[in-house]
Amino acid sequence: MLVQQDVEKEIKANHPRAAIITHFFGNIVDISATCGCMDETFLIEDGGQALGAFYDDRPVGSYSDVGSFACSNKKLVTAGQGGLNVCDDERLNEAMRVYSHHGKNSDGNEVIPGYNFRGGEMEAVLASHALSDIKERVTSRNAAARIFQDRFDQAGIKYAVPFSEVDCKPAWFDIPVILDKEWGGYRDELLKALVAEGVPAWKYSSLICTPWIRAYMSYHGWWDDATEALMEREKKLWDRVFVIGTQFTEDEATILADRIVGVLTGK
Ligand SMILES: *Cc1c(COP(=O)(O)O)cnc(C)c1O
Repeated sequence: MLVQQDVEKEIKANHPRAAIITHFFGNIVDISATCGCMDETFLIEDGGQALGAFYDDRPVGSYSDVGSFACSNKKLVTAGQGGLNVCDDERLNEAMRVYSHHGKNSDGNEVIPGYNFRGGEMEAVLASHALSDIKERVTSRNAAARIFQDRFDQAGIKYAVPFSEVDCKPAWFDIPVILDKEWGGYRDELLKALVAEGVPAWKYSSLICTPWIRAYMSYHGWWDDATEALMEREKKLWDRVFVIGTQFTEDEATILADRIVGVLTGK
């Protein structure tokens, strides 16, 4: 996995024109440090899993040029489909609207090549109701998260934690459990055992291991030894991770946490 210093080195060496930062699991990237080493980079924050999380008392999504929040039915703001983009720049707002509306501006003229990415009205109604519940949803998810984390602490099971040096308030969407090295290669069998126990555990693969990425990057001449090494490192790490959601009541979370501890420790 890229650690913060690698990210900063990469940015300083390559001056990317645009970058996307993803806050995974409701946990928070050290966004302020990352922004601090960028000058002209246009930054998008993907907060699809972290709506309602805070970094230094500022909501996730507000550090970048555009904050983006997916709203499919698993997310904290559920609209069925679609998403929310936030920015505080009128021109950018207009540009996003034009792009998603066949490239048509408010006069109805097609000014750029665009797409039909308009959000539907029903989705907007659902999202707006969900948004008004966001505090309760985050509180309830964090309560379920606390139960998993406490049980895992007692059993010596590792999971992802927030940065300790900065003031982070995650909005736990999933709890990523980090398996000991001995589990290497057996994670998928473990998942089958958990599912058989009624635990809806799930896995994420490393984005760089997405099957077409390597072919695509190689075609463009972007895949080098450093990328290969990065893929190997990412794969090793992600192959040791499984996630459990936080969309549970405290009673449900207690039962599920006990089952996970049982399967992992044999107790
Ligand atoms: C779900 C999710 C997306 C994708 O959202 P869709 O609306 O399904 O396209 C993007 N980023 C993150 C972090 C997500 O969790």
